[in-house]
Amino acid sequence: MKTVKVSIVTPDGPAYESEVEMVSAKAQSGELGILPGHIPMVAPLQIGAVRLNKGAGKPDLVAISGGFLEVRPDQVTILAQAAEQAENIDVARAKEAKMRAERRLSEKKENVDFKRAELALKRAINRIEVYEGRM
Ligand code: ATP
Repeated sequence: MKTVKVSIVTPDGPAYESEVEMVSAKAQSGELGILPGHIPMVAPLQIGAVRLNKGAGKPDLVAISGGFLEVRPDQVTILAQAAEQAENIDVARAKEAKMRAERRLSEKKENVDFKRAELALKRAINRIEVYEGRM
């Protein structure tokens, strides 16, 4: 089976690197499946999971907080605001962030930034789902 090199990079440094058989990611336009030899492209990503299939066994899952995916003939690069592999996710922190965001969204105060709270909620739910392998 052919493979393609995948790097996931954040402002804090590299978050993931591997040779994989397939990359699945949630683009703004919908779910993308990238196989080795895919035509070059750039796509903006949603808050979501990146699934990395390495043949036999469970795929690797990485939680991504938005960013860009760039495909070149021999390499897929994901530039993300934040990225965590499932095993590095602090699920208690994500659950607290989820509760905080839900509380803000339920407040009827004028000074609540709803868009910001909605994005925080999406990041938290994404981390919890990736941690639990529910993607
Ligand atoms: P919080 O409110 O808990 O900080 P957040 O969604 O606002 O969550 P981000 O701004 O997306 O956090 O991320 C800040 C940094 O913390 C990034 O490096 C990110 O990878 C890391 N991070 C955030 N939440 C978690 C988590 N639950 N487990 C592991 N790392 C996390």
